[in-house]
Amino acid sequence: ITVSDLVSESYGRIGQVDGKVKAFLTLDEENARAAAKLLDEKLGLSDSNGLLFGLPIGIKDNIVTEGVTTTCASQFLRNFNPVYDATVVTKLKEAQAVSIGKLNMDEFAMGGSNENSSFHTTYNPWNLEHVPGGSSGGSAAAVAAGEVYFSLGSDTGGSIRQPAAYCGIVGLKPTYGLVSRFGLVAFASSLDQIGPLTKNVEDSAYLLQAIAGYDPKDSTSAKVDIPDYLSALSGDVKGLRIALPKEYMGEGIDPQVREAVQSALKVFEGLGAVVEEVSLPHSEYAVATYYLLASSEASSNLARFDGVRYGVRAENPRNLLELYHKSRSEGFGPEVKRRIMLGTYALSSGYYDAYYLKAQKVRTLIKQDFDNVFEKYDVIIGPTAPTTAFKVGSQVDNPLTMYLNDIMTIPVNLAGVPAISIPCGFVEGLPVGLQIIGKALDESTILRVAHAFE
Ligand code: GLN
Repeated sequence: ITVSDLVSESYGRIGQVDGKVKAFLTLDEENARAAAKLLDEKLGLSDSNGLLFGLPIGIKDNIVTEGVTTTCASQFLRNFNPVYDATVVTKLKEAQAVSIGKLNMDEFAMGGSNENSSFHTTYNPWNLEHVPGGSSGGSAAAVAAGEVYFSLGSDTGGSIRQPAAYCGIVGLKPTYGLVSRFGLVAFASSLDQIGPLTKNVEDSAYLLQAIAGYDPKDSTSAKVDIPDYLSALSGDVKGLRIALPKEYMGEGIDPQVREAVQSALKVFEGLGAVVEEVSLPHSEYAVATYYLLASSEASSNLARFDGVRYGVRAENPRNLLELYHKSRSEGFGPEVKRRIMLGTYALSSGYYDAYYLKAQKVRTLIKQDFDNVFEKYDVIIGPTAPTTAFKVGSQVDNPLTMYLNDIMTIPVNLAGVPAISIPCGFVEGLPVGLQIIGKALDESTILRVAHAFE
């Protein structure tokens, strides 16, 4: 089998299913076929083939790709052609993966269902009446539907793990700082991380290995040695100490999701792990804290979209102010505007102490909850999301219910620690996700635990 065969297979599958699933925004077929041809010429010639040699990958559309339209699923950037590659994209090229195209998402990664994409909704391959989750919904659906081997997503408050859970695949949010954010269009810079969406845990380890590492172009990049994630997969979980937060299993959790998680914990006990209930007492404030901080950072990050520098410019403005005003009014969708308004309010003088500063303090308390639990336990396990994938359209009218879906993923971003979502069962034909949370920079342990369950 040649790389060109793999790439053809990928586009063939896209041709079959993407009319229904609608995971892709842009297909990059000409470049992909040229890259495949080059790799085929190398095949067999070198014994130093890249880690991901010849494997078709999809990339979330908020990760910039040189010469390939990068829209963030926003009308604002519908014509934006980046002049450079994100560091992760450079690393994928070094690992010799082949990019197939750019994947749909909620506009600027704000959302949890892909219904906030300004182009079209993506559908859950398990049941096309349901959402794939979000914001990396295209990334999850494309892998679940077999259109690509794996994909990259970004996770600010759950956007890799929740769609992975809804689509029955594996999604990993690395420790903040492990993977370079250079070339990731910023949503909330202190929370954003890029990570892998894959069919299984082994693939997740491979993809993480390829993209992790210090990058001088990202000022928050961690200067640490990258372990061999693949060798971590062989260990067992005998004697492993698992914490089960009572806040993640209580009210608001679908009883059948809770049951699936409880059976998964039984499996771990059967493998020799010890499970004990713990408390993360500040969990109840996590959603409010996140939406204040993420929106504040977003309002500042999105100030760069002014109609002058990037993307679309409104026509016939009478003056500079009107140019900004019209470009932003026309370019941003309703959810993005809501976040900008909320964030601007929280940051304005007079309200800063009451909202932004208060939220920063609560963030520290949430992080301390995790530190306390990790003094005694190796991992924290619970559901990834309170329910399985909901029906398309069922939550669009109520942003608050939508925000509450993030209750178990958001604290992880606020604490900066890594977490992986793996499939652990089905409810009415839709997959349930199990979330395994680890200590900072301890991706090896969560990969090992996830692999032991598979
Ligand atoms: N659903 C969350 C939000 O809407 C998370 C988004 C994300 O992780 N990018 O902000």
